[in-house]
Parts: sequence; C-alpha cells; structure tokens
Amino acid sequence: MGETEEARRLFDKMPQRDIISWNAIVTAYAQNDKVKEARELFDNMPQRDVVSWNAILAGYEQNGQGEDALKLFNQMLRSGTIPDQSTFTSILSACTRLATIEQGKQIHTHIIKTIFKSDVLLGNTLITMYAKCGSIDDAHQVFHKMPIKDKVSWTTTIVGYAQHGHSNEALELFRQMEEAGVKPDHVTFVGVLSACSHAGLVAEGWHFFDSMSRDYSITPTVEHYSCMADLLGRCGHLHEAEEMITKMPFEPDAVVLGALLSACRIHSNVELGRHVAEKLFELEPENGANYVLLSNIYAAASRWDDVAALRMKMKDRGVKKQPGCSWIEVKNKIHTFLVGDESHPQTEKIYATLESLAEPMKALGYFPDTNFALHDVAEEEKVQLLCHHSEKLAIAFGLISTPPGTPIRIVKNLRVCGDCHTAAKFISRIVMREIVLRDANRFHHIKEGFCSCRDYW
Ligand code: ZN
Ligand code: ZN
Repeated sequence: MGETEEARRLFDKMPQRDIISWNAIVTAYAQNDKVKEARELFDNMPQRDVVSWNAILAGYEQNGQGEDALKLFNQMLRSGTIPDQSTFTSILSACTRLATIEQGKQIHTHIIKTIFKSDVLLGNTLITMYAKCGSIDDAHQVFHKMPIKDKVSWTTTIVGYAQHGHSNEALELFRQMEEAGVKPDHVTFVGVLSACSHAGLVAEGWHFFDSMSRDYSITPTVEHYSCMADLLGRCGHLHEAEEMITKMPFEPDAVVLGALLSACRIHSNVELGRHVAEKLFELEPENGANYVLLSNIYAAASRWDDVAALRMKMKDRGVKKQPGCSWIEVKNKIHTFLVGDESHPQTEKIYATLESLAEPMKALGYFPDTNFALHDVAEEEKVQLLCHHSEKLAIAFGLISTPPGTPIRIVKNLRVCGDCHTAAKFISRIVMREIVLRDANRFHHIKEGFCSCRDYW
C-alpha cells in the first residue's frame, strides 16, 4: 500500500484534471499490477491519447493478458489513434506469447505503414516474434533488411536459428557476427552452444565453450553448462556430462539436471536416470514433469514395479501432473485443446479426422506407444487416451480448418509427448504438410516424416 494509493489520493483531490494527470494515474496502476483498476480509469477518461492506450497495453502484456491486449489494440486503431513504437513493442510481445503469427504479420504491416524510419528495437522485437511464432525465415528476412543491427539483432537471430534446429545457419551467422566486429554476449553463446547441440557437434561445442572466457571474458553460467549437458547427453556421453556437472563452480539447478535426465531417457540409462531424478525431486518436489520423465525411463525398460512405486510416491507427495494443453491459431482466433477434449464446436469432425488417419498411419508402420500414457487404466483405454492427446486434437483441427499445403503451427505448454511426436511425423507424410510444434523446450519442424530435432528433445 503506497505509491498508487498516494497518487490516487492526490488525483481525486485535483480540482481540474488534464490528460497528463489522467495518464499518470492510469500508468501508475498499470505498472503496479493493477491492470483492472487501470482499465476502469481508462474507460472513464474524458479523452485519451497514445500514452493512455500504451499504458493499458503494456499492463496487459506484462500481466500475460495477450488476448485482451490484441482486443484493445484493435479498438485503438478504430478510435483513430496512431500507434507509436511503444504500442508496437507491447503488442508484438503479446503476439509472441500467444504465438499468433497471423496477427503478428498484420501488425508488421501496420509498422511498415506507420513507422517510417527503421527502428532497431522494433526490428529486434519483430525478429523475436517471428522466431518464437515458428517462422524463422521471416525472422531472418527482418534481420537481413535492418539497415542498422545491434548485438541483440544478431543474437536473437542466432538463438532463433538454434531453437529451430538450423545449426549451420546459426553458426554461420555467428561467424559473420565476429567478422563484423560485433561483440557477442552470454546470450549469443547460449545460441551458439545449442546450435552445436542440435547438430551433435561435441568438439565444436567445447571449442566455443572455452572461447567464451578466453576470447570474450564471459564467465559461463549454469545456462551454458546446461547446453553442454544437452550436447553431451544427445551424443550419449552421459558420464562426461555427469562429470562436468559435478565439477561446475556452482550447485546444479533444475535446468542442467533436467537436461541430463532427458539424456538418460533417450539413452535408456535407468541407474543414472534414477540418481538424477532423486536430486530433481529434492530441488523441485512439485514438478510432475520430472516424475513423468523417470516413469518413462522405467517403462521403456519394462520396470513396471518401479513405475508403480513411483506413482505411489507421486500420490503420497501430492504431486500433480500439470495438464497438457495445445493451441493453434486459425483466422485470428486461438483454439485450445486438453487431452480428450470434446468442448470444441467441431469436435465430431476433429475426432473423425483422427479416425480417418489411423488406417494409413498403421499401414506406414505406426503403432501407439503406450509408454507415454501414464494412466491407471487398461491397455485399450490407454490407446484411446493416447489417440486424443491435446497435440493430436490440435493437429486434426489444423487439418480441417486450414488450406491444403499450408504449415500447421501448434504450441504446447509442456514438452511434446513421444507418441504424439511419432504420430506427427507419420501424419506429415500422409497429408503432405509441415507441422511446426513449439513445446516447452524447443521447436519441432516436422516434414515428410522427419523432425528437425532429430528425435531428441
Ligand atoms: Zn501424446
Ligand atoms: Zn522433434
């Protein structure tokens, strides 16, 4: 209780209020996590200017209310107020969070029409928006066209390439960055190291890791160690990864241990997996994802007693699996799906589409991997649940609601499930579409039966 209340008291006492005092009070509320109150004041303003609209837009964006931000932005355009750089920065961040590339593109067009001189900050925000919304080509276009690029422009594009699994492009751009004399920072190196990881370049990874401190005086953080753990793990050097983590100059955090646990799942290393998972359970007792990973490791080794014991442990500790949720944007609208969701108006068509894909998928060699269905249910029911995971429902909806040949862009709040990943590869072959899936960890560009992550995530 302080600043905003004090400002409000003064504001209420004012005999006459001009737009500047209105804007000040609206901004004070919006910046102090009181967006609802700010909006009420905003609605009562006798007149508004671009500052008033920006205050609410920024408040919505910071508060994670992306859809409200988009609604307000459209209202702003209708009101005849000309957006400025700050408006565009907020609204592009909202698009990034929602992964709405269609609306992001429309805003890009507005920017070209409204802002005449090129702006580095806005350019960087556009690169982020395109990269995070799944179109690395558009991100690179923006980068390429920027007359003035700063360190952030280079870094954002390098990181974007790495997240999309385009390792060669990321490393080539890094070479150009060095050549242009732009000094990389610790974020640039996160991009470079994860590019090495995607391509399985162990020697290059160590080279860049050493070069960081030697050539640029950047001390590696736990994030860089996590990239190295991911790289070593991907290549099956599990013990080297473990050794590196033990020797780090700080305590391992959940991210670096999580990378090692994922590696244990990929390489079916039960002993190390159990050991790493125990440490993770101590660090984040509530995170159901770690239990799921260990359970997958046990299940793949057919250690059903261990699976059952782990499930008991989860119950005892009250760990809940965060529900998986996937969404897709079609014609400026976001459609969200949960597992077995039947709430969508087109539910029947969605399920029929999945049904119609089952036969051709089977013919190509797909069979449901029930290791990924962690439910206390009979085998047959497991297959049912698996078939109706949120990713699959979103893909099916994408198929029926977008023109043939266009890519289907899905976002998932958690890591993509192994069975859905495999199914998506088969579906991409059958329907001849690219499926771009952004999960909690990375991007998957699934095309003609292959994924850019090379089945490691
Ligand atoms: Zn799944
Ligand atoms: Zn993938």
